[in-house]
Amino acid sequence: MILRKLKLSGFKSFVEPATLHIEPGLTGVVGPNGCGKSNLLEAIRWVMGENSPKSMRSGGMEDVIFAGTESRPPRDFAEVVLQGEDDADEELEVVRRIERGAGSAYRINGNDVRAKDVALTFADAATGAHSPALVSQGKIAQVIAARPTERRQMLEEAAGIAGLHVRRRDAENK
Ligand code: ATP
Ligand code: MG
Repeated sequence: MILRKLKLSGFKSFVEPATLHIEPGLTGVVGPNGCGKSNLLEAIRWVMGENSPKSMRSGGMEDVIFAGTESRPPRDFAEVVLQGEDDADEELEVVRRIERGAGSAYRINGNDVRAKDVALTFADAATGAHSPALVSQGKIAQVIAARPTERRQMLEEAAGIAGLHVRRRDAENK
């Protein structure tokens, strides 16, 4: 999978619609403290289906919606669009949108889908919200200090077999 473009609107500090082009290779995000570097990475995780408030540094999921400042009113929704190509080189566009009081809605290539479909799309492509391809603050130290089982999970994500575990759990629960 190749990620090409990230669009944000009303997501955390990205109140105005913003489009970022993701160039091939390794991308680093630099800037002064508080400018939104971590928010960007969280936007990628969020559109990939992240639902843990802790990984989003928020109390509840609606906290990702721009909360307003002294000079700007809060927004009613947050939307993140991730565009790229899947492993078959087909165009892929994933959209996640959250509205106050209405929860999250997902779309893949214009079709309404379930959160699970989004998670599977990325799990099969060896990426996703917990992908080792997304290296956030403090992650390097975490990898070094990880227990063997945690390190195995990271390797499984990287090897692209995490999706198999999801399907096995699914089959066992049926
Ligand atoms: P550092 O270098 O300290 O790690 P950073 O560039 O990673 O900083 P972020 O943590 O991404 O910065 O951004 C923090 C900013 O985002 C803060 O100013 C915070 O107020 C703002 N922010 C977070 N959530 C929201 C929200 N829901 N509405 C408005 N602003 C928000
Ligand atoms: Mg940060």
